[in-house]
Amino acid sequence: MQPLTNRAKNVDRRPMTLAERAYLPAILKGMGITFSHLFKKKPTIQYPEEKRPFSQVFRGLHVLNRDEEGRERCTACGLCAVACPAEAITMEAAERQEGEENLYREEKYAAKYEINMLRCIFCGLCEEACPKDAIYLSETFAPANYDRKGFIYGKNDLLIPNPLTDREAYEQAAGGRVRQPVGSR
Ligand code: SF4
Ligand code: SF4
Repeated sequence: MQPLTNRAKNVDRRPMTLAERAYLPAILKGMGITFSHLFKKKPTIQYPEEKRPFSQVFRGLHVLNRDEEGRERCTACGLCAVACPAEAITMEAAERQEGEENLYREEKYAAKYEINMLRCIFCGLCEEACPKDAIYLSETFAPANYDRKGFIYGKNDLLIPNPLTDREAYEQAAGGRVRQPVGSR
């Protein structure tokens, strides 16, 4: 029969030597490889105490951003949901009421905002599509979970801490990624 490739090898069917039957050469070779690794630099790290530096372009967990006055920037326009190739984003819009100007930047805001992290492919298109700098992908990744529902991140999970009331938590969540509010957008 004609072989499909020219990479086929004939099986060596000669009888094994005594040493081969005792597996001694193979065991010694394996032990040699193991011992050689004892003197090499460890490739493993003690996560979570130790963390590897991420690439500058690493795209991790989403963060819903606030402006310099601590107001939510998202206007529930839906552009991120439309841009999302995985259909991972859902939201419900609501109108800002009188007296809520300190909470929401625009007349409309996202009363509900959810991202299904099991669907998300961390492509970053939602960040690209957002005209308000309201969403960006941070340097942290979604933690493991035993429950599928635990991977549906709601607004409370995504919203960045208020910079006016908790500056330290805000800066920690923002990392080096967040574009500082420009006010004019
Ligand atoms: S990163 Fe990509 S897949 Fe994930 S929510 Fe944003 S647009 Fe959708
Ligand atoms: S995150 Fe941005 S694109 Fe998505 S709904 Fe809010 S304002 Fe619109």
